Amino acid sequence: MQLARLADEIREGDRVALARGITLVEDDPERAPALLGRLGPPSRSFILGITGPPGTGKSTLVDQLIGSYRRKGLRVGVIAVDPSSPLTGGALLGDRIRMSAHAGDRNVFIRSMASRGWSGGLARAATGAIRLMDASGFDIVLLETVGIGQSDIEVVGISHATLVVLMPGLGDEIQVSKAGLMEVGDVYVVNKSDLEGADPMVVSVLSLFRGTRRSPPVLKVSALSGVGVEELLGAVESVRGRFESGDRELKLKSIRGMIVETARGAALAKFAAVSERGADGLARKVLEGSTSIEAAAAKLAP
Ligand code: GDP
Repeated sequence: MQLARLADEIREGDRVALARGITLVEDDPERAPALLGRLGPPSRSFILGITGPPGTGKSTLVDQLIGSYRRKGLRVGVIAVDPSSPLTGGALLGDRIRMSAHAGDRNVFIRSMASRGWSGGLARAATGAIRLMDASGFDIVLLETVGIGQSDIEVVGISHATLVVLMPGLGDEIQVSKAGLMEVGDVYVVNKSDLEGADPMVVSVLSLFRGTRRSPPVLKVSALSGVGVEELLGAVESVRGRFESGDRELKLKSIRGMIVETARGAALAKFAAVSERGADGLARKVLEGSTSIEAAAAKLAP
């Protein structure tokens, strides 16, 4: 199909064209720039990143957020990045959301995306999908990633605001991922507040920011029952208010993230092609002693 026509149909809000566009961005790194280049600058969508360890209730919360935004009359796109590793097990995030009450709503568009084990593919595909949803007229894009790998955490750099979803009893995981998860959040959610241990968890999250220059809100929520979701929405809406009133810094932050992620995707794709082709011959030379590993590596990544 002609890219110009596909871009027009996406801008007109055609769902089939949007789905096709996202597939093209995922599968065809050669043609993706030509499609995305026709869209113009990101304009409409407020991008909300949702990340955190597996099982904390991100999908359940996304379902609640879709409901809240739909009640405000807003159109909601969802990108759920699924870890492609079979080790994680269980239903995929995207599938869980797809099974939700919002599946039949034409003003909700849900797409899941495999993280494919390397950040380049994810960076390119997620950034591209967000831009296609933006062009297609979605007011809100929810970007859900599992906060276990660095690439998943980095991708939320595209967001205008990021929720980090935690739950009671996660002490060790937080310590381990402190550098990642604890840096990216604008709002911290201690979900499953109906379970024991939510208050101590709030205290330990707060303690991580003591003595730092950051003091993001830490909110207790039960995504299952909906308790606390309104307060959470309030915290997000204060950031969205800035976005809607044209806060340049906020918009620049997201666009900067998109540029970096797009460049990273392109560089890694290029590098993957180079390394697959070139490493064999170089390995033989290293074994024969005619070159060093350092010199060989410099040939691959000049
Ligand atoms: P994700 O892996 O972070 O997307 O987590 P899910 O949304 O799939 O939730 C994991 C499990 O936690 C599911 O069995 C949910 O029903 C459950 N869950 C989600 N939110 C809550 C909550 O607020 N309270 C309780 N008790 N369970 C919850």
